[in-house]
Amino acid sequence: MQHFDFAVVGAGIAGVSAAYHLAPHASVVILEREHAAAYHTTGRSAALHSETYGSAEIRAITVASGRFYRKPPAGFTDHPLLTPRGALIAGRAEQQAALQKAATEYARLVPSVRWLDPAETLRRQPLLKPEAASGGAIFEEAEDMDVAAIHGGFLKAARAAGAVLRLDAEVTRLDRKVGRWTVCMRDGESVTAATIVNASGAWADVLAGLAGAAPVGLVPKRRTAFTFDAPAGLDLAHMPMVIDFDETWYVKPEVGQFLGSPADETPSPPCDAQPEELDIAIAVERIETATSLQIRRIKNKWAGLRSFVADKNLVVGYDPVVAGFFWLAGQGGYGIQTGEAAGRLAASLALGRGLPNDIADLGVAVAALSPARFTQR
Ligand SMILES: Cc1cc2nc3c(=O)[nH]c(=O)nc-3n(C[C@H](O)[C@H](O)[C@H](O)COP(=O)(O)OP(=O)(O)OC[C@H]3O[C@@H](n4cnc5c(N)ncnc54)[C@H](O)[C@@H]3O)c2cc1C
Repeated sequence: MQHFDFAVVGAGIAGVSAAYHLAPHASVVILEREHAAAYHTTGRSAALHSETYGSAEIRAITVASGRFYRKPPAGFTDHPLLTPRGALIAGRAEQQAALQKAATEYARLVPSVRWLDPAETLRRQPLLKPEAASGGAIFEEAEDMDVAAIHGGFLKAARAAGAVLRLDAEVTRLDRKVGRWTVCMRDGESVTAATIVNASGAWADVLAGLAGAAPVGLVPKRRTAFTFDAPAGLDLAHMPMVIDFDETWYVKPEVGQFLGSPADETPSPPCDAQPEELDIAIAVERIETATSLQIRRIKNKWAGLRSFVADKNLVVGYDPVVAGFFWLAGQGGYGIQTGEAAGRLAASLALGRGLPNDIADLGVAVAALSPARFTQR
């Protein structure tokens, strides 16, 4: 039976980033249930990198990842991983006071966030109707991510450093004896590993159960997205994504089309999430109410599971009870934008090297991410 230092379960962004950072230092196998990596949530995102989104730790880890994505090592990619987009959070009259307060708060963390009055809001995003543009907070530095290039770059480089990828390899049983896991797969194959890295996305608590570890209370939440044609003549390259202040819809310009979402968060068991017609209809109605867009035909539609723990932070660290079981879970709606630094932080902790300095300097503490925070209550 082949033995590895680390068996990483899951080949989404979390698993491949961790494998990329582990592989130069240790032997690694990535075990993925599906026939393709990134089949689940990683392949279904809206691909926005925003340093104003999420908790203080999420924003810090996003900043650290952004440094890598803007300047990846030679050979990682042959084209930019991030490209300018901008994100405008807009509000109606009754949302204006709260939005203005939030804009001040965002600007304290990210000084380039600017408050726009109604006229400026409409100038920056002319698709908005005046009643949906009583003010806005603009973050010009939000960027589009090339998720396939980021995920593919990690995977290619991890494999070049010796990591092994096994697809159609669902982990169905974990047994630990004398400091070594036997990892059994559905097809009857097995490997042994010193450490399991739990990067199984929506299934993280299920995998923990196989290892005998207590759940962290992960709740997968379905989010729906779809694309539709953009009217001719719009300059989509310079148009910001627009997000309703209460996050009840968003529209993101893409190449020749828009991506829309009702920003739904419907709790779901871990599964191959599918879009519901009702959620799409709700989004169409909200987007048509707030903007001049007329959505005549849905081109593509999908849904994915954004998985959160109660405080909406990542869960990174060794399980406090089960030896050799390492968590990298709770990526929520930020798994790609935090992907690089979360994987690096996970690899560093898993190798016993502590928190990387650049991430500590951004104010992240190990305890805020540790799975132990769920067992100590
Ligand atoms: C509509 C939508 C919009 C989003 N927009 C953004 C955005 O703009 N920016 C951003 O940063 N993030 C965004 N996200 C969130 C982001 O996509 C996720 O946080 C991220 O993809 C999670 O990655 P992951 O690797 O943890 O999970 P996944 O990509 O789901 O990977 C987990 C993998 O583990 C595998 N697995 C599970 N159990 C087992 C087992 N027993 N054996 C073997 N394999 C197993 C699964 O098959 C799966 O492939 C969005 C998500 C959605 C749905």
